[in-house]
Amino acid sequence: MTDTPRISFEFFPPKTEEGRNKLYATREVLQAFDPDFFSVTYGAGGTTRDTTANIVTELRRDGISIAPHLSFGGDNEETVLGLLERYKESGVDRIVALRGDMPSGMGAVAQLVYANELVAFIRRHTGDHFHLEVAAYPEIHPESESYDDDIRYLKGKFDAGANSALTQYFYNPDAYFFFVDQCAKAGIDAPIVPGIMPITNFTNLARFSRNCGAEIPRWLRQRMESYRDPADIRKLGLEVVTDLCETLIDGGAPGLHFYTMNQVNPTAEILKALGVAEK
Ligand code: FAD
Repeated sequence: MTDTPRISFEFFPPKTEEGRNKLYATREVLQAFDPDFFSVTYGAGGTTRDTTANIVTELRRDGISIAPHLSFGGDNEETVLGLLERYKESGVDRIVALRGDMPSGMGAVAQLVYANELVAFIRRHTGDHFHLEVAAYPEIHPESESYDDDIRYLKGKFDAGANSALTQYFYNPDAYFFFVDQCAKAGIDAPIVPGIMPITNFTNLARFSRNCGAEIPRWLRQRMESYRDPADIRKLGLEVVTDLCETLIDGGAPGLHFYTMNQVNPTAEILKALGVAEK
């Protein structure tokens, strides 16, 4: 790897005291890698509105750079404005702006608001206060009608005021490089940071990937499915994802955004294997 990349770590809001303690312990260790920021996800349909906001403002009090994920979910403008005000007051200066999904079983209870509209809404009400990240999909969003449409809508998010993008995870670096080229051809010149999902539990990963449209290459699936010992899965996962990160950074990716799943070891081991220095 040529340079130390921009690094960020994603958490989900814990539901229990035990989960909260684990998140704090994970944060403590990952902080040593000097990340640009941490981020905290938002439950589909706004189901974690309060837990996300509480953990974000709590972590912010410790002085770390932290970005809440945000979507309209089923909320009205007033509720979203209230959250933006709360984040501003607590010193948050970055938001991951999303359309989000509806929680399974809720059907179409509310109309989802596209991310470009949320970006425009945040800019309208808070000016340039927040650095706005949006989601991008090198293997294309599962609901997209075409590759070109998806890139056009991503461009719409930048035109509305987004600053940079974080991608869905993938295991094929060519998908990322091709996507970034196509984005550049469409006039997108903002950073598109690859999302990195460490591999620990392959069964869970395969199920999750089916839902979010991330492809697991056949050779990787075959190899993983032949293993019986979880330690073998973790070992190959570490090797494959470290190689992926190296290829991405050497090929010009502007950073790495890790989906930590609130676990310290899978992410920390990759960073150590990449030679990222701890402070
Ligand atoms: P959009 O950019 O609005 O796109 C949604 C779909 O509609 C796409 O198919 C797009 O091509 C199409 N589209 C976009 N704009 C328009 C338009 N104006 N007109 C017509 N079609 C349009 N989900 C959560 O619930 N909580 C999270 O915290 C969360 N964090 C994430 C973090 C990252 C880095 C990523 C990559 C995804 C995350 N997701 C999260 C998942 C995300 O919410 C889903 O993938 C969701 O289905 C799409 O959200 P979006 O912001 O990409 O939507």
